[in-house]
Amino acid sequence: MTDAVERARRDVVIANRILAAEGVLDAFGHVSARHPLDKNLFFMAQSVSPELVEIDDIMTFDAQGNPVDDRRHASVERFIHAGVYARRPDVNFVVHGHTDEVIPFSITDVALVPVINVAADITAHIPTWDIADEFGDNTNTLISSMAHGLSLAQTLADHRVVLMRGHGFTAASSSIVQLVRLCVYLPRNARIQLEAMRLGEFRPLKAGEIARLGEIDPDSPASQRSWRYWARKCGCESLLENAGAPGRPAFSAS
Ligand SMILES: [Zn+2]
Repeated sequence: MTDAVERARRDVVIANRILAAEGVLDAFGHVSARHPLDKNLFFMAQSVSPELVEIDDIMTFDAQGNPVDDRRHASVERFIHAGVYARRPDVNFVVHGHTDEVIPFSITDVALVPVINVAADITAHIPTWDIADEFGDNTNTLISSMAHGLSLAQTLADHRVVLMRGHGFTAASSSIVQLVRLCVYLPRNARIQLEAMRLGEFRPLKAGEIARLGEIDPDSPASQRSWRYWARKCGCESLLENAGAPGRPAFSAS
């Protein structure tokens, strides 16, 4: 196994554990990484809760979301990841969660917008995907087929986050460091916006501020600081060592 592959697999473990420890994922939710040497494959844990994910839980899936030579129990919603990777060649990592704080914005017409500076990279517009729009009301609302995953990815389009009506959110990035940071601050931003709305009119970040703040450099000292802090806090510091730099796999031409 190359360093890049080992790095990607470890990053999936670390990200699951961080997002569980930070209250973003609970018994459900998942993280995936595109295979660094074959863009038609991705890594994702078998169906275990994010806090419990270990390196041996990581499975390999093909572009259609099918497990590759593996009979373990795969998460039903792996098609979220397959759909996003299919439609977004720039994306190397995907997170899906059901975090309470974001769901009110998926079932109302109130827009979730950046209100705190650390969440500027959620960007000023977050689309909402409603499974019933394309598939009617005869679904269990889970993304259980490639058709569902591709439909979700179409609504995500070029955004970093998409809300899912009455369900949760999906976020995507080229960098695991950037994505985990976004997913930690997304629900905090939602909570603060909801609190502010109880008080009355609120003032979101301004367009120029979002533009200046919104590009998080995953290699910056500040990004690496938070990544290492969160990894250590959830007991994953040893997984940071060796096997290349975190979260920036060099892709082959395949
Ligand atoms: Zn879900």
